Amino acid sequence: MALLVLKFGGTSVSDIERIECVADKIVRETHAGHKVVVVVSAMSGITDRLVGYCLEINELHDVSEYDTVVSAGEQITSGLMAIALQKRGVKARSWLGWQIPIKTNNVYGKARIKSIGIEELHKHLDDGEVAVVPGFQGITEESRISTLGRGGSDTSAVALAAALGADRCDIYTDVNGVYTADPRIVPEASKISRISYEEMLELASLGSKVLQTRSVEMGAKSGVAIQVLSSFDDEVGSALKGTLVVTEEEIVEQVIVTGIAHRQDEAKVTVIGVEDRPSVAAGLFGPLAKAAVNVDMIVQNISADGRTDMTFTINKTDLARAIKVLEEDVECSYDKVITRENVCKISVVGIGMQSHAGVANTMFNTLGEKGINIHVISTSEIKISVLIDSDYTELALRSLHTAYGLDCQESNPE
Ligand code: ASP
Ligand code: MG
Repeated sequence: MALLVLKFGGTSVSDIERIECVADKIVRETHAGHKVVVVVSAMSGITDRLVGYCLEINELHDVSEYDTVVSAGEQITSGLMAIALQKRGVKARSWLGWQIPIKTNNVYGKARIKSIGIEELHKHLDDGEVAVVPGFQGITEESRISTLGRGGSDTSAVALAAALGADRCDIYTDVNGVYTADPRIVPEASKISRISYEEMLELASLGSKVLQTRSVEMGAKSGVAIQVLSSFDDEVGSALKGTLVVTEEEIVEQVIVTGIAHRQDEAKVTVIGVEDRPSVAAGLFGPLAKAAVNVDMIVQNISADGRTDMTFTINKTDLARAIKVLEEDVECSYDKVITRENVCKISVVGIGMQSHAGVANTMFNTLGEKGINIHVISTSEIKISVLIDSDYTELALRSLHTAYGLDCQESNPE
């Protein structure tokens, strides 16, 4: 008998029929003897609609009132799910954020969880009752409702699992796991059965969007096993057919490259003819940071005649702001700025890289053979990223997938 936290995303509870299907799944876990905490998202589309209402009245609305509005979607699903479970003869009740309580800081719209009260919850679970918790919401020190940022229900679920000492946190979504690459682009991509928190963090922040980054960080800190699986498949989580996010030690057979991620939302900025002297990088990137422009990859060219070129990437949505900062605020002289938007960042990720040489070389050779030019390179212990023209995205992903031996095989056999 295990204690399980089961989280169901918006598409898994998109209408009454889906809520009833999910309730059937939960009943299968309770009948197997498990204690169950359910965390639900808002029915799909609801949160966007609620956000839209706030914006319609005032684009510069009070964020604490925004939280009051947008947290409502999850509250509705939690009550409906409790009713669906009761109809199936299972004892169940909803637990709103303030009733547990899930205490957060006062950063409305993007709050962080500070503590979770578990005593009452444990009593009810011991009594055979299913707890249905609306994800995404908490309560601040000022006794007001807060939300955890978009996609925050994942974090609610993992945080509850950590606080309760759950055996596993199953994140039910509309894909059946994490893939070695985007299967819509790479047909040979396969489901990864086990992945480490560190790798998942790289993939989550690189835009594979299955889990909120913060939930993975919380998993890593607490060691809660997180499983990503589909609510549209027949199996329940205890069959372990999804992707398990676990510690490095729990991955029996390590591969060198676990997955390849890509993101198209970056833009490249090159500042030509920057005066090359100490503290010039600070003079350039300091004002960008102050304007909340998040800089990702950076390269500085060899200098000639006391001048150099500096290239960096930022989010496309920050491009206009970055150009304004470069024109008005930077504390160094330069000749001109060139920008480029049709770029794609491709990253190969794998903990096995730490102990293997030649991983970067394989990447560069593969891209070279296909005639794909690399604009910028950056690396970390478990990741190598390159920036290329977005026209070559498909070709690069497919050839790298083959080069690293990821085609059509279970990448991490159990
Ligand atoms: N409903 C919220 C959102 O759409 C939270 C979540 O589903 O995780 O962002
Ligand atoms: Mg989500």
